[in-house]
Amino acid sequence: MRAKKFRMKKGGAVSAIMLLLLLAIAMIDGCVQKQKFEPKAEKLNIYCLDVGQGDSTYILFPDGKSMLIDAAEEDSNVYRLLEEYEPEYIDYFVITHPHSDHAGGAKDVIENYEIGQIFMPDAANTASFFEELLTVIESEEIPVTQAKTGTLIYESDDFKAEIISPREEGYNDLNNMSAVVKITYGNNKFLFMGDAEKAVEEDITSDVSADFIRVGHHGSNTSSSKGFLNRVKPKYAVISVGEFNNYNHPDGEIVKRYKKMGTEIYRTDEMGTISVVSDGVDIEIKTQR
Ligand SMILES: [Zn+2]
Repeated sequence: MRAKKFRMKKGGAVSAIMLLLLLAIAMIDGCVQKQKFEPKAEKLNIYCLDVGQGDSTYILFPDGKSMLIDAAEEDSNVYRLLEEYEPEYIDYFVITHPHSDHAGGAKDVIENYEIGQIFMPDAANTASFFEELLTVIESEEIPVTQAKTGTLIYESDDFKAEIISPREEGYNDLNNMSAVVKITYGNNKFLFMGDAEKAVEEDITSDVSADFIRVGHHGSNTSSSKGFLNRVKPKYAVISVGEFNNYNHPDGEIVKRYKKMGTEIYRTDEMGTISVVSDGVDIEIKTQR
């Protein structure tokens, strides 16, 4: 199944027998592998994937376009986790910053799925995984757009996905170079902070009030400053962390800070993959466990 199964489109004619065979395999596969979350058509479907210590979010826009934000560590096998959602094509792939817990699995994703466009900040890492990633992006000839304040990812009717940080002049710290993604759908707003820290939280000038926040830097106390949270006032927060991680993420004080605001907290280490569905008015959250 790992082979570039969705690349057959490129390959030209497939015989009728082959098609029937594939159909049969797909049917058997469908029976065995029960889908955990059924994506809801014409809604915004956000899946905060359970990837251990790292970050990866798969998103289906209301019109069916798809976006992946980060691909966690290489050994979390995000490209395999994605099979459950059967993406035929990933329209937008945001690689927030070049740390391995966000970008480590990106190469495998690119090798296994067709990607329309990549967004990444102007930040580099000399680690071999990142150099290999850049080589693959180049050899697959995927267009890359620099992620920075004001970069528009996609917009239609009452839907918008945009990047609101890093600022043009950049930052010395790689975490702060994180592409921060904001999605607006009808009345609902969503923030994906990457590993951005306090300096960024202070610099962002866009409206950051949001119903939902993908908590910055795995709930570390480097992020989620009081001033910023007062601007966001999220109803729901997702923290992506591995069980018993070496960093003691999330920080206890930070968790308290969210709870004090009345924010409902969801953690991937305790609840597995977290599904967030919005119709532009209401938000429904389901967890794997
Ligand atoms: Zn991280």
